Amino acid sequence: MNLLSKFDSIREEREEVSSIAGHNPFNFVIDEILSSTEAMVNGKPTILAGTNNYLGMTFDADCIRAARNALENEGTGTTGSRMANGTYSDHLALEKEFADYFDYPAAILFSTGYMANLSVLSTICSSNEIIVIDSDCHASIYDACRMSDAEVIRFRHNNPVDLDRRLKRLGERAKSALVVTEGIYSMLGDQAPLKEIVEVKNRYNAMLLVDEAHSLGVLGDNGRGLSEQEGVEDQVDFIVGTFSKSLGSIGGFCVSRWPEIENMRYAMRPYIFTASSSPALIASTRKALEKMRDGRHLRDQLWDNAGKLYQGLKDLGLTIGPATSPVVAVILDSGKLNALSMWAGLLDCGVYVNIVLPPATPGGECLLRCSVSAAHSPEQIAAIVDAFAKNSQYAQLQ
Ligand code: PMP
Repeated sequence: MNLLSKFDSIREEREEVSSIAGHNPFNFVIDEILSSTEAMVNGKPTILAGTNNYLGMTFDADCIRAARNALENEGTGTTGSRMANGTYSDHLALEKEFADYFDYPAAILFSTGYMANLSVLSTICSSNEIIVIDSDCHASIYDACRMSDAEVIRFRHNNPVDLDRRLKRLGERAKSALVVTEGIYSMLGDQAPLKEIVEVKNRYNAMLLVDEAHSLGVLGDNGRGLSEQEGVEDQVDFIVGTFSKSLGSIGGFCVSRWPEIENMRYAMRPYIFTASSSPALIASTRKALEKMRDGRHLRDQLWDNAGKLYQGLKDLGLTIGPATSPVVAVILDSGKLNALSMWAGLLDCGVYVNIVLPPATPGGECLLRCSVSAAHSPEQIAAIVDAFAKNSQYAQLQ
């Protein structure tokens, strides 16, 4: 027995999974990436239907050109923190472009979206203050809460009445609360009731942070997310997002209507004690942001594809998430073995989706989570539906 022994059970569980399914979801390898929607997996062309590549930006020729130029002219990495030698003029330019895009006075970049949540949420509230999170929030929000000295309270998922109850209980202290929600939730594709949440937080003079990771580029006329779609951007205090989905690269940001967030740069440990994003990442993200802003046709295509996949899976009688969304989750309550078999069966049909098993799922069921891209062709959407049809024996149909 040593420190590593406790991980034996994880290995055993993984081995058990691989023997059930033939393909091991914990050991999924892309042998060769072919495009933003296709890869070679186990020697077979496979449609990627679980990548969060909502606008198909990873193979955009202009983004690639911008990244290549930056790589050649500015090198492979900054080798330093934003606080030391890691701020190049391009980092500042992208911060300004994010602020302008949201029409807010301030923006800060981070090395990932995870680090954006970790940085902002672990710093903004101190020991006598309160973070009030939706219970289905992402792991990065939970981890940030663990890092924070603040009191942490959860409210029921997408339930403004429960939020109201919890803020009311805080009395005067509600003024020192930060409410945290997401735009589109990553597992079931449902949207936060943002207008109602804004109304509640306003009533108690609390602040609100919205993580738009899955809604950036996807919702709103200009792709600014759920806050734009619901017309509440002037009442949202902080918007956090990632470059790793619609923008097709790696990084994170926080924008705010409060210019004072500038002062937080000097207090956020996950911002200070890590290297800044590489010039190539910044360059491709700048180009992607421009294209996303003007990318109404991409959003239309994305929603068209999302509607087709959602309806196609619904028509098969599968239990799916509550509303049409670029995240389409097939909910399986027929057990882990069936979920794994269906996931492997889809792969045999040349379709990759995400498998999410309890306890990582909201309702404790197993999920086969598809994410749609604007870059999926009609034939690819039809092939995804067809693969589910061929494996429907693993689900309890409605
Ligand atoms: N927030 C949410 C809601 C997410 O789903 C994710 C990524 N899955 C993140 C933050 C973290 O983003 P990144 O990949 O840039 O670390």
